[in-house]
This record gives sequence, structure tokens and C-alpha cells, in this order.
Amino acid sequence: MALHVVVIGAGIVGAATALELLRDGHRVTIVEPGEPGGPQAASYGNGAWLSPASVVPMSMPGMWKKVPGYLADPLGPLTIRISALPRLMPWLVRFLAAGATVPRVEATARALAPLLRDGPTRHARLAAEAGVAELIRQDGLLYAYPDRRAFEAEALAWRLRRDNGVQWTELSAEQLRAREPALDPRYRFGALVESGAHCTDPGAYVAALVHHAVAQGAALLRARAIGFETAAGRLQAVRTNGGAIAGDRAVIAAGIHSKSLADAAGDRVSLASERGYHVVIANPQATPRIPVMPSDGKMGNTMTRSGLRASGQVELAAIDAPPNWKRAEVLLDHLRRTYPALAGDIPRERLSFWMGHRPSTPDGLPVIGPASACHDVVHAFGHGHVGLAAGPATASLVADVIAGRESPISIQPYSATRFRWW
Ligand SMILES: Cc1cc2nc3c(=O)[nH]c(=O)nc-3n(C[C@H](O)[C@H](O)[C@H](O)COP(=O)(O)OP(=O)(O)OC[C@H]3O[C@@H](n4cnc5c(N)ncnc54)[C@H](O)[C@@H]3O)c2cc1C
Repeated sequence: MALHVVVIGAGIVGAATALELLRDGHRVTIVEPGEPGGPQAASYGNGAWLSPASVVPMSMPGMWKKVPGYLADPLGPLTIRISALPRLMPWLVRFLAAGATVPRVEATARALAPLLRDGPTRHARLAAEAGVAELIRQDGLLYAYPDRRAFEAEALAWRLRRDNGVQWTELSAEQLRAREPALDPRYRFGALVESGAHCTDPGAYVAALVHHAVAQGAALLRARAIGFETAAGRLQAVRTNGGAIAGDRAVIAAGIHSKSLADAAGDRVSLASERGYHVVIANPQATPRIPVMPSDGKMGNTMTRSGLRASGQVELAAIDAPPNWKRAEVLLDHLRRTYPALAGDIPRERLSFWMGHRPSTPDGLPVIGPASACHDVVHAFGHGHVGLAAGPATASLVADVIAGRESPISIQPYSATRFRWW
């Protein structure tokens, strides 16, 4: 049955969902206050990795021991702004609990795997359909370590990957050099995930998907959704700052801003911003062939259309707190230590910095599925570190929910109701 579906948010999740719904024959209205794929969205500035290996949650056993260090080091790879601590405490406690035991992280990895496994193929298909096939590149993804011992220190993470069907090729120092000659020689061991892919311009990619959806008949409305009108548990309209839009179904895909909408649909979810940063060097002296994650930097280094992008850092702070650009400088410093050709002065006009919000649940799993107070509203947010990669699989699950079709995978692990018991 063809329905009118209002998709709230035009990041990667909203854009992919709109296309999936159009494929099912629905009428689609996308509500988005900003430019689709613009810098207000996490989908704009991320690391651009489409990684089946991203099944490893942020919270892992033993992490609680590191919290005092995170509080003490404002420029480490994960920091917590002390001013935000009281508000973040419930999220933080759940975050540490979610990674407290090996069985818990195994369950998280198992639930993430089907959202990520065929991400590269799904993205390649979507990009081709939208006429921007060149934006998705299947060159593999490389994890670089100083030596094998450093790789083995992450044995649990690699075990989780292997258990979920991720394969990799181990590279000796010479093989690593041959694959990625731009890398600093201090990296002497590599793990190459050949099934991984990347996007060379995530913002432009999302914009192209939305453009394609509009060309297929979707309406794009510049407005901010603020709630829902319901009657007898059924959706009547989505309320926006520009008036109400009548609709049969609505999809909440507003990234970090989804929490209040989920609340309005009857689900109190635990969602916090894991703020992240990027720096892009235009016309860089080093142009790595493969995206690299250096183990000592915990950042993704990826060649994009606008230059060499380093993205990473986790900063737990209020959504509206001003950015701390020193964190982007940390990324730049590390980038220069990763690629010796970047050693000289880089003129300021060749650098650009960005900060954005990972929409993160404490257990590292997204929220997907019907809302509790009104089943016509469907959640599609909370993808934290993996939303770019998992966007298309999420879109297909949302389309299944709206069509009343059985999905190839269970959506139960992503249910918003899981927060009731925490
Ligand atoms: C530094 C960094 C690096 C990352 N690296 C990667 C990576 O390499 N690979 C990966 O897979 N993921 C990565 N991520 C995570 C990924 O970017 C996010 O999970 C993903 O972009 C979330 O997509 P989204 O569509 O849910 O939200 P967003 O992209 O944030 O889009 C939400 C949209 O909703 C709109 N909106 C907000 N409020 C409303 C409202 N009330 N009404 C209507 N619209 C609204 C916003 O304007 C925005 O356009 C990274 C994130 C960061 C910050």
C-alpha cells in the first residue's frame, strides 16, 4: 500500500531511507532545516570509512580504569568535559556497563555486524543509482601498528571482527611499505581489511542521494520537526516550525537531535553527543593510497576530494558547548607524524577544521524500529561511530517495518524499549 512517509532529517540515514521508501512506491517528504549533507550533519565530516570491521564497540572490558585519565587529559583521544559530567553521568554509567564483560561486547558486535557487513556493496549501488559512483572507492582499509605486539594487544577487538566474518591480511613491515609507501617507517605491522571501502566526499554524496530522491518525486521541505499529532495512537501529522505536514508514517532520522522527537513518540532513549573533529589538508604533500587508522592515533586518515582528512577524537560535552579546536590540532600533529612528507610548514589557508556530533547510545547500537506510543513513527538514529557505513542497511530495515515485511535480520537488538530497563 502506498503511504505518505515524512522522513525527518537528511543525513545519510534519512537520505538512504527516503530512497528505499521511494523504491517501495511510497510518497516521501523529507524535512530538513539545513543543506542536505551540509556541515551541520555528522554525515558531512566523518572519517568516510565504510568498514565491515567497525563491529567493535567503543566501550570495552576494562575501560572504566581509564576514566580518571580521560578526565585528566583534555587532549587525549577520549575526553569528558568536567562541566558536562553531571548531565552525562547516567549515559556514562550505561556506557561503561555495556562494555563491562566480554559476552556483552560479543553481543554488541553480533548486532552491529549485519548493519555493516555489506555496507560497501550497498553504498556502491546507491552511489551508482544517484549518478555519483566515483564517490565510493573499494580500496580496502588499513590498520597500522608499530609492531605485531601492538596488534596483539587488541586481540579481543580482532577476535570480535573474525567471529563476525571480517577477514584481514597481515602485513609485515616490507609489505606495509609496499602497500602504503607514504607511511612513517615506525609503523612495521599492518592489518588490511580488503572488504572495506570509503567515500571520497560524504557531504556531496548525501547531497547527491537527496537530489536523486527529489528527482524521483520526493518533496524536500526546509523546516525543523518539533513533534507529532496523533489520534487514537495513529499518526496524523508531523509538526514542524513551518506548520504541520499530514502523513501516514514518520521516520526519525535527525541524528543527535532525535532524542526529543523520540521522547514525543513515547520513548525515552539514552543518547549523547560523542563530539568528533576533522582536519583536512588541501593539496597535501602526502597522498596515501589507502585509508589508514594508525593504532597510536585512533583516527581515520582518508584521501578525500578536498584533501587529506584526519578525523577522530571523542569529546563528551554538551551539544551546544563551543568546539575546542585544539583537538583538531591534535589530529593535525598526528597526521604529520604519520606521513613524513607532511613535515614542512602547511599554510593556514590549506587547512580546514570541523566539529560534529556522533549520535551515540551507550551500548553502541542504533535505535531502529517502531516507536512505543505510536507505531506509525519509526526510529532510525543513534548510529554513533558507524552511521555512514550502516545507513543503507538501516534504511532497508525501516522500509521493511513500514511495509510490514519481515526483515532478513531481527530488529529486536535496536529496539528503543531496551532503555527502559537501564
Ligand atoms: C569525527 C567523526 C568521524 C566519523 N567517522 C565515521 C566513519 O568513518 N564511518 C562511519 O560509518 N561513521 C562515522 N562517523 C559517524 C557518522 O558520521 C554518523 O553516525 C552518521 O553520519 C549519522 O547520520 P545521521 O543521518 O543519523 O545523522 P546526521 O548526519 O547528523 O544527519 C541528521 C540530519 O537531521 C537534521 N535535523 C536535525 N534536527 C532536525 C529536526 N528537528 N527536523 C528535521 N531535521 C533535523 C540535521 O540538520 C541533519 O542534517 C563519524 C562521526 C564523526 C563525528
